[in-house]
Amino acid sequence: MEKMNKQKTRHEENKLSKSHETDVLIIGGGLAGCVLAYQLLEQGKRAIVLDEPHHSTASRVGAGIINPISGKRYSSIWNAKEVLPSALNFYQKCTDELPHKPDRIYCREVPTLRMFATEEERNFWEIKRAQEHHFAQLRETRNIDELYDKPSIHAPFGALQFPSWRVETEVLVADLRNALARRDALWEDFFDETLLELSNDAAGGLRYKNFSAKKIVVCHGWKAHKSSLWGTLPLSPAKGELLTVRLKSASLRHLLVKGTFLLPLFLSSSGDNASQETDLVRIGASYEWEQLDDRINADVGVSLLESAQAIFPTEMQIVEHRAGVRPAAKDSRPFLGVHPRYKQCFVMNGFGAKGAVLVPYCAEQLALLMDGRGEIPREIALERFLGKEP
Ligand SMILES: Cc1cc2nc3c(=O)[nH]c(=O)nc-3n(C[C@H](O)[C@H](O)[C@H](O)COP(=O)(O)OP(=O)(O)OC[C@H]3O[C@@H](n4cnc5c(N)ncnc54)[C@H](O)[C@@H]3O)c2cc1C
Repeated sequence: MEKMNKQKTRHEENKLSKSHETDVLIIGGGLAGCVLAYQLLEQGKRAIVLDEPHHSTASRVGAGIINPISGKRYSSIWNAKEVLPSALNFYQKCTDELPHKPDRIYCREVPTLRMFATEEERNFWEIKRAQEHHFAQLRETRNIDELYDKPSIHAPFGALQFPSWRVETEVLVADLRNALARRDALWEDFFDETLLELSNDAAGGLRYKNFSAKKIVVCHGWKAHKSSLWGTLPLSPAKGELLTVRLKSASLRHLLVKGTFLLPLFLSSSGDNASQETDLVRIGASYEWEQLDDRINADVGVSLLESAQAIFPTEMQIVEHRAGVRPAAKDSRPFLGVHPRYKQCFVMNGFGAKGAVLVPYCAEQLALLMDGRGEIPREIALERFLGKEP
């Protein structure tokens, strides 16, 4: 076994007294690590997640929106044909199989109105729709007053109507962690990479403290960019802030998007979503690349509130303000793959603002790769960075 660092303290050696053997040791128990572990256990493999819990991880803070058309260029989800069904099926399976509160649905459809900001944007969309036939069935509405009269939504150039989804990542991760803990597959501890002992021969696996495993997967989010094992991972983390507000004299039944989003937080699963309304709304999200921490900034809160009120002019009372950091990759796509030298070491990270839709599919692909039964699609493969990064 080759030691990453020979410094081991007595305290660390004694910390975990029992030894544990597993097929896959997963570092990080956010959405990525928990979904991967759950899928592996369902396939009959042994998996253990090692996670240092933190209250403001991306999976706890994030809005969980799956928006099929996003950004200024009206981009669809990468590989939507495979990625979206994989996500929706996985979340449905969790709703069916995980022990949870009776009314819980982890992923629900949310009718969406995306407002055109200018006439040019609307024209851009017309061209895009003509070029990409899967957009053809989407409806546009000029007269939003038919949908909301009091207050009226500010949408002088009309809006596009389509379904999005919202995944309650915070509760889902909590429930997945409970399910893993019940199967002795979750350990709350900081992973200190310097204590990792890797065999030079992949079949020899690895040891970490009292754990021995055939493989290790690092899914530890935005803080993972510095690693002596991986070098600098291609992350470009982006801090984001969100508000939760209560509407004083209005309710919302659509996700409204115009740069800023207003997401209705339906709290019960009963009834037809399309006809549900709520006065509880999440507003987001800011982007900041310099100050990477989970501190909330009052000015950002004010600016989010102003943007929201410009879209939906009604009185809003702030109930909660949260901040976290998205583990975004340099080219805005996740990266999955195996270490160039240690073939028992894998990585799955870089989900940025799209973890909700991408994680279940990526976990499936990584499990296949670890089994020697598949290759990671080029667009999300770690290899695209190897050789370019130190
Ligand atoms: C403000 C904001 C809004 C967002 N909105 C959306 C959205 O609308 N839709 C969407 O799809 N996504 C959204 N996201 C992004 C989404 O939340 C992430 O893509 C996803 O949660 C990433 O999951 P993860 O498991 O990779 O990372 P994380 O959730 O960050 O989990 C990483 C875990 O690893 C642990 N860890 C790190 N280092 C160690 C260590 N050394 N030892 C042990 N444990 C360690 C951490 O404590 C954490 O538990 C948003 C994120 C933010 C911050």
